[in-house]
Amino acid sequence: MGDSSDSRERRDGRPLGEFDLIDRFFGRAARAGRTEGGAVALGIGDDCALLTPSAGHQWLVTADMLVEGRHFLSTVSPRRLGHKALAVNLSDLAACGATPRAFFLSLALPRVDEAFLAGFAQGLFELADAQGIVLAGGDTTAGPLNLNITAMGEVPAGQALLRSGARVDDDVWVSGTLGDARLALEVFRGTLSLSATQFEEVRLRMEMPEPRVALGKALRGLATSAVDVSDGLAGDIGHVLKRSNVGATLRLADLPRSAVLGAMPEELQRLCLLTGGDDYELVFTAPPDARQRVLEAGRAAGTPVYRIGRIDEAPGLRVVDGMGRPVQDVPQSFDHFKS
Ligand SMILES: [Mg+2]
Repeated sequence: MGDSSDSRERRDGRPLGEFDLIDRFFGRAARAGRTEGGAVALGIGDDCALLTPSAGHQWLVTADMLVEGRHFLSTVSPRRLGHKALAVNLSDLAACGATPRAFFLSLALPRVDEAFLAGFAQGLFELADAQGIVLAGGDTTAGPLNLNITAMGEVPAGQALLRSGARVDDDVWVSGTLGDARLALEVFRGTLSLSATQFEEVRLRMEMPEPRVALGKALRGLATSAVDVSDGLAGDIGHVLKRSNVGATLRLADLPRSAVLGAMPEELQRLCLLTGGDDYELVFTAPPDARQRVLEAGRAAGTPVYRIGRIDEAPGLRVVDGMGRPVQDVPQSFDHFKS
């Protein structure tokens, strides 16, 4: 990106001017990152970026691809899309307790659309600046709209939160509220209608997710495992249970939900809470004697946290209703390849 070499021009068969345009939108922050010092010793402008880890730390690296129609709708504003493209990667870093450092952006664009790029870059850099993460490189090409971000963060060696550490009798916790993004998706699909204010509220959750970076960092040394809710609570906690060789029982009545979702029919609430993707909240486990410290971590991070269940020895996920009765047919998670 910003590396408008002759070979690049020939390969894409586009005039140099269009890549200069892209450089104008994305080159700024990358060059600023270069002078800021810190992790990015050298950003855009050479064949590779040069990153310097902090002493005694480990890098964490994650990549996410966003494809139109699959991960976002054409109705989303470019600014919100820029925010979300980075937010989903920051959410993975948050789930590991990482401090965000650098990211790489690869874009395929059907055409160079100045208004789109300006909005996208604005949303992207507003979040990047707020989270102290620097664009350190990437690539652009002509093609169907496709957004790829690779993000890197660091943690003190050995302190990354992993999916494999949940232990029997640990509490299961979740941050924020679940299910609003799915509710918004149902409105877009036409299966549901909401008032304009309700729709704006849940649409914001879907299009502008807030990665729980501060909470993830506050949970270092406290949570025994963590994962972010990208594909739905049931599926994502399933990854933890599998990696940790344990099971869990969740209490449906304790799953935190917005007032908008709480006013919906029971069955729809259940679907949104358990399988709604795109929430980007953190689900994590911690021993019962850490309850007070977990609540304090949530307060310090400005993110409410709720105890929603317990880790059991018997494998698999169980959900119980307000009376403690098992909920049959727990809906499974949204699967990109099955839907
Ligand atoms: Mg994840």
